[in-house]
Amino acid sequence: TDGIVTAVARALSRADSVRRLEVRANADTPEDAARARRFGAQGIGLCRTEHMFLGERRRLVEEMILARTDSARDRALAALLPLQRQDFTGILAAMDGLPVTIRLLDPPLHEFLPDRTELAVRVASAEAAGRRPDPHDVELLDAVSRMHEENPMLGLRGVRLGLVVPGLVAMQVRAIAEAVVERVRAGGSPEAEIMVPLVGAVEELRIEREEVERVLAEVSKESGVAVHCPVGTMIELPRAALTAGRIAGEAQFFSFGTNDLTQTTWGFSRDDVEAAFFSAYLDKGVFATSPFETIDRDGVGRLVRIAVEEGRAARPDLKIGVCGEHGGDPDSVHFFHGAGLDYVSCSPFRVPVARLEAGRAALARTGTSDSR
Ligand code: PEP
Ligand code: MG
Repeated sequence: TDGIVTAVARALSRADSVRRLEVRANADTPEDAARARRFGAQGIGLCRTEHMFLGERRRLVEEMILARTDSARDRALAALLPLQRQDFTGILAAMDGLPVTIRLLDPPLHEFLPDRTELAVRVASAEAAGRRPDPHDVELLDAVSRMHEENPMLGLRGVRLGLVVPGLVAMQVRAIAEAVVERVRAGGSPEAEIMVPLVGAVEELRIEREEVERVLAEVSKESGVAVHCPVGTMIELPRAALTAGRIAGEAQFFSFGTNDLTQTTWGFSRDDVEAAFFSAYLDKGVFATSPFETIDRDGVGRLVRIAVEEGRAARPDLKIGVCGEHGGDPDSVHFFHGAGLDYVSCSPFRVPVARLEAGRAALARTGTSDSR
């Protein structure tokens, strides 16, 4: 096996010496960040903050989103702030000196709110037994019913959540900025980048970016440490790709969220579709591989090319990457190289494969696999 290890190491270092694409990893814990680094990741291209709100913190999230009063919401946010700061300090430490793209909260609401049916059953069975239902349950049921969505993936997520829940963005950005300050004071070189999800209109990004800048300035002033974080956006809706020129006016970087972009371009639910009819589609030859695995060059890929071209025309130094699952798919890596991206970001375990493929793509003659 020593021979194989040496051969792989040699192939990787050759790939690294020729590839133009940077390879980052998707990671949202210090452990994953450290693992990604061992696999050769040059930073984190996507740190999802959703999981950080699960477990014991769920209750605080419920309070934040369902809060009936401003003070209840502010209390929940205040309790979340130090927890978030700690999350970010750990990840920035593990990736010290390398970029860490932290994405603001982007949960489909149903993953966070308590289950409506469960609550309804509890309330109804108390009533049926002649007992007074728990007032907390009644209140929650009312709130959850008001917020219920038939299509949560098309609902109150991403930037929309940031725009409607007062204080949420400020809390996350403050946690990021304070973590940066903490790392700087400890002698580190934190390179946090802030990414806004699910943008469809430049106005959404402009409003959110202004809030981000305001909080960064506030923390810089309080701490005496100048905190500068590039602010960018995911491109994961067709409308974002088609208006990329305007969006680039407000973004220092783009990262393609090809999971959502595939879902919204095809109109396939990324959660349901595989079970329902994908095998039939593969059998009938509608497509040769799942468009959720390999980039669909004709549709999704075309949107990517449009966004790259218009984004760079508006802002020549725009940094562009991809952080959907496709970032670690060999065939897709060739496409992203050809489309002129700066980096791909994938799960830590796929980093070596992405490095190799990025090298192969750079060596491939033009007119081969990446230019279809
Ligand atoms: C995406 O949509 O491709 C993406 C990276 O974001 P998420 O999978 O978290 O929606
Ligand atoms: Mg997405």
